[in-house]
Amino acid sequence: MKKYNFNAGPSMLPREVIENTAKQILDFNGSGLSLMEISHRAPDFKPVVDEAVSLIKELLDIPEGYSVIFLGGGASLQFMQIPANFLLKKAGYVNSGTWAKKAMKEAKHFGEVVEVASSADDNYTHLPEIKDIPSDLDYLHICTNNTIFGTELRKDLDAPVPLIADMSSDIMSRPVDVSKYTAIYAGAQKNMAMAGVTVIIVKDDMLGKAPRELPTMIDYRTHVEKGSMFNTPPVVPIYSLLETMRWCKAQGGVKEMDRRAHERARILYDEIDRNKLFRGTVEESSRSLMNICFVMNDEYKDLEKPFLEFATSRGMVGVKGHRSVGGFRASCYNAQTIEGVNALVQAMKDFEKEH
Ligand code: PLP
Repeated sequence: MKKYNFNAGPSMLPREVIENTAKQILDFNGSGLSLMEISHRAPDFKPVVDEAVSLIKELLDIPEGYSVIFLGGGASLQFMQIPANFLLKKAGYVNSGTWAKKAMKEAKHFGEVVEVASSADDNYTHLPEIKDIPSDLDYLHICTNNTIFGTELRKDLDAPVPLIADMSSDIMSRPVDVSKYTAIYAGAQKNMAMAGVTVIIVKDDMLGKAPRELPTMIDYRTHVEKGSMFNTPPVVPIYSLLETMRWCKAQGGVKEMDRRAHERARILYDEIDRNKLFRGTVEESSRSLMNICFVMNDEYKDLEKPFLEFATSRGMVGVKGHRSVGGFRASCYNAQTIEGVNALVQAMKDFEKEH
């Protein structure tokens, strides 16, 4: 049976990315060695890193003065690496959900942390209203897409202080004005690559100001200076990232990704709003295009499990909601197809007819 993958991450990648990466895993550039077996310092591998960096710069139209680096440790390591490098005295955090909260917790190891806005009281069913940003912050940290609760800030904030964003779950899904950010980071396992590599876009002239001795691996300058080759980088994930960036460019770049994201989300939210069994969990103006969260209406609560089973029998994978929201979550990252979204919508319609 055909499967439709709605996993929140690691998540669906374009088939050709997987096939091209698999080919290189079997035989890297005709060398007779697997991509898993080569040295990261092999002459053929540096071009992989260079092309991946240059495609990210091109696709996001990154201005001069920024570096792109690839690290391990996931976005979770960035929760501490960002404040280690940028928190001098006081940083501001917007609490938009689980990941933002985790980032805030780690920053507290390095200095004063102010919660500038929060939607915790409403269980993160909308984006926090960011009203007054103190002007004495070293930076303001935001998480642009709340993967768990399904809210998304799909525009670039104007902040009076340096802006830093966790874009793990919406990077490459829309054009971004990178010049508004001091740093952008993303665990790449949603829109960019298989799991194992984290992408950091960092403004060079903001580095080296931290009033603390930084361990070598934690200092971004180490990785900028060594072109992500200070230590052994995640070779296979970086290769899959290169293939995904090539795919993204061939499809029309982030503008086209944005158009597709809107189209997919419109189809699915329209059905959620129409279907008597379901309702969305997020206020309309905060709805994420990447992670679409919905539950059974109260009078049909008992049908939650049967719907999951029904959807599974139609080939849907990963539509169970996160435990902190319940219900359902359909993640629609760049590789998600209209066909996949239509299959889910058809399952919702058919299930409604039966009940
Ligand atoms: N930030 C966001 C928005 C996420 O969605 C996730 C994971 O899903 C993370 C951070 C944590 O990423 P990692 O597992 O790469 O540490």
